Amino acid sequence: MTAPAPITQDVHTIPRMLPRTDRVNLLGLTRDNLRDVLIAAGTPEKQARMRVGQIWQWIYQKGVRDFDAMTNLAKPYREMLAAQFEIALPEVVTREVSADGTRKYLVRIAGGHEVETVYIPETDRGTLCISSQVGCTLTCSFCHTGTQKLVRNLTAGEIIGQVMLARDDLGEWPEPGRAPKNESRLLSNIVLMGMGEPLYNFEAVRDAMKIAMDPEGIQLSRRRITLSTSGVVPEIARTAQEIGCLLAVSFHGTTDEIRDKLVPINKKWNIATLLDALRAYPKASNSERITFEYVMLKGVNDSDEDARRLVNLIKGIPAKINLIPFNEWPNAPYERSDWNRIEAFADIVYKAGYASPVRTPRGEDIMAACGQLKSATERTRKSRAQIATEAGLAE
Ligand code: SAH
Ligand code: SF4
Repeated sequence: MTAPAPITQDVHTIPRMLPRTDRVNLLGLTRDNLRDVLIAAGTPEKQARMRVGQIWQWIYQKGVRDFDAMTNLAKPYREMLAAQFEIALPEVVTREVSADGTRKYLVRIAGGHEVETVYIPETDRGTLCISSQVGCTLTCSFCHTGTQKLVRNLTAGEIIGQVMLARDDLGEWPEPGRAPKNESRLLSNIVLMGMGEPLYNFEAVRDAMKIAMDPEGIQLSRRRITLSTSGVVPEIARTAQEIGCLLAVSFHGTTDEIRDKLVPINKKWNIATLLDALRAYPKASNSERITFEYVMLKGVNDSDEDARRLVNLIKGIPAKINLIPFNEWPNAPYERSDWNRIEAFADIVYKAGYASPVRTPRGEDIMAACGQLKSATERTRKSRAQIATEAGLAE
């Protein structure tokens, strides 16, 4: 049976972002920053804390963008807010829906740059994979995003804005006057696994995730947020202290020689240094394990010996191993390991006592799978030579 064709839609139904104005965008401000701008706009200091709470709830709990709808604020105050501020989300340019229900949004941010956001529905959860940078400074040789130069970091508003535009599309804002449905949320988990290295944009990622976790904000538990890093060692302890979410690490290689080629940041912080930082990750416990992501590349990192080395290396770290069949992209220098090889690898990992789920590729028909995200901004492409040299793949 052939798979049904993906449904592709231009999103004309989703309202386009207001034209940029000189009004200050409140989206993504921390509570402290919001308080400061409200005071600067004339809010009496004594009232500021309460106003922050009220506005915060309208924006993040109820999905309201129009100050006039904030009915627990006095009319003249609403008018003042509307004159000076706006609540502006990034713009959804296109939305594609895969045959398996995965939704991929192409999102345009200020300056005309584009990132991708992917929603993955599963039986027990709905996960939103969000981007933290346009492009990436790193050049992991198997990653499509790695072929694109870093254009810029996303702001906290652009990061939390991805969560909000997905909730718009899923229709997941409470009806006025009704509590949000927490039990059966369509968007129940966030993974920072889209474009970019989140730990190279630490402050914006932290501020956005604080809004996602805020009891008066998006209200997701910190255990439902996973940040994936290629291994930016100096920021790992800070992630536990200042964000407190779960951690995933793009491991992918069991010797420095191989990992240098696949994840070139390994040349800066090698496997031993990375593992030391992970052993010290204060949140790591049996209920909050660190996920080791491991992409399965044919003939490169997928032998039985690799599997045995992997389990030996991570001994003592509360861990899960997530095997990711390589998602191919045009002219990629690797192939996906055969299924029997992936199974044999998974078996060794499992027998060593680790859960070793193989991540089912989702949304492949719309190029929404892990590592396939890349905006169409061709002018910002890295050269093949640069990627090959940095990854040590040059002839
Ligand atoms: N920059 C961060 C997060 C984004 S990548 C990081 O590197 O961890 C999210 C995950 O997808 C990472 O584990 C990454 O290594 C993996 N990935 C990248 N390209 C892939 C591909 N083509 N196939 C499978 N997984 C890929
Ligand atoms: Fe950047 Fe992560 Fe891709 Fe490496 S795998 S190039 S760190 S997005």
